[in-house]
Amino acid sequence: MYFDKDATSQHIDGETVAVIGYGIQGKAFAANLRDSGVSVIIGNRTDEYRDAAVADGFDTRPIAEAVDGASIVLLLIPDEAHPEVFNAHIAPHLHDGDLFVLAHGFSVRYDRIMVPAGVDVALLAPKMFGKPIRQRYLNGSGVLAFLDVIRDTTGRALRRTLGIAAAVGFTRYGVMPVSHQTETELDLFQEQFLTPLLLDVFRTAFEVLVEAGYDPLPSLLDMHASGEMAEMMVEAASTGLYEVVEQQGSPTCRFGVQRYLGQLLGGEVKARGREILDDIRSGGFVEALSKEAEAGYPSLDEYRSAYLANPMTTAHDRLRAALGAQA
Ligand code: NDP
Repeated sequence: MYFDKDATSQHIDGETVAVIGYGIQGKAFAANLRDSGVSVIIGNRTDEYRDAAVADGFDTRPIAEAVDGASIVLLLIPDEAHPEVFNAHIAPHLHDGDLFVLAHGFSVRYDRIMVPAGVDVALLAPKMFGKPIRQRYLNGSGVLAFLDVIRDTTGRALRRTLGIAAAVGFTRYGVMPVSHQTETELDLFQEQFLTPLLLDVFRTAFEVLVEAGYDPLPSLLDMHASGEMAEMMVEAASTGLYEVVEQQGSPTCRFGVQRYLGQLLGGEVKARGREILDDIRSGGFVEALSKEAEAGYPSLDEYRSAYLANPMTTAHDRLRAALGAQA
C-alpha cells in the first residue's frame, strides 16, 4: 500500500494535467488537483459539462487542445466512449514521455484503445464515486484507490502516478497496487454477480412479505428504505461483515441470523458466480456488450419496462410521496 509518507504532489511539479471529462470523476479530480497546487486544464466537448468547468474557473479547451497542452492526461469520460474519443482526439496529440492515466482498466484490459509507444500508461482507480472524493479531500481525508503502472517508458511512471494520487487525496486513505486486469474483472464481477444477487434478494423478501399479506410500505421500510441496512454496510466497511452483526445486533437478532446463515443460498448460486467470472475473463461479456451497444442497447429498454415498473418500485414511489423530503 502507498500512503502520504510515500508520495507527494511534488512528484508532478512543473507538469500540467489535462482532465478529460468534467462529470462524476472529472469534477472531483480537477478540484482536488487544483487545490493541491497542480496546474489543470479541462478537456471537454462544447456543452453543459464544459460550461460547468468554465463556471468553476478552469482553463477549459477542446479535448485535443487540452492533451496538447499537458504532459499528464487523465481520461475521465464513460468507458463506452473511450475508443472513439481516444482515437480521434487524444492519441494523435500524445507525446513521448507523457503519462496517460485511466480511472478504470476496462479499455486497456480488453484492448479497446492502443496507447502510442513512448507514452507512460497507468491505472488510478478510485473505489468511490465523485462526491465523497471531493468532500473527504475538503475534510482532510481521502478515499481508497487501486494503482497499476501498465507501461513505464520514462522510469518515472510510478512516481508521477503517485503524485496524482497524493494530489487527489487517495494516499491519505491508501493506494493499493492491483493489476488493471484484476481491477477490471473485480469491478465487472461486482456489477454482474453481486448487484443482481442483492436486488433479487430484496425482491424475493418483498414478495414473501406482500404475498403473506403485509403492507408494502412498512415492508419496504423495514427491508432497506429506512436506510438502516445501508448504515450497517457503511459500518461493516470498517468493522467487517460478520462483526457488524456481532456488535450492533441484540441477542434476538444474532440468534435469528445464526439460525439461517449459510443455508439460504445453495451451491447453485456459487456455480453461477463462477460462470459469470469465466465469461468476464474470457471476453464473452465484452463481446455481448459490443453487440448490445451496436444495436442501441435494446436489453436496457426491456430491463426498464420489466423492473422499473414492478411492485417494489411502485411501492417505493408511494413511500416517497408519504414521507416527502425524508424518502
Ligand atoms: P461521467 O458519465 O460522469 O462522465 C461525464 C463526462 O464525460 C462529461 O464531461 C461528458 O461530457 C463526457 N463525455 C461523455 N460522453 C462523451 C463522449 N462521447 N465524448 C466526449 N466526452 C464525453 O463518467 P464517470 O466520471 O462516472 O466515469 C469516468 C471514468 O471513471 C470511467 O472510466 C469510469 O469507469 C471511471 N470510474 C467511475 C466511477 C464512478 O463512481 N462514477 C468510480 C471509479 C471509476 P459531454 O458533456 O461531452 O457529454
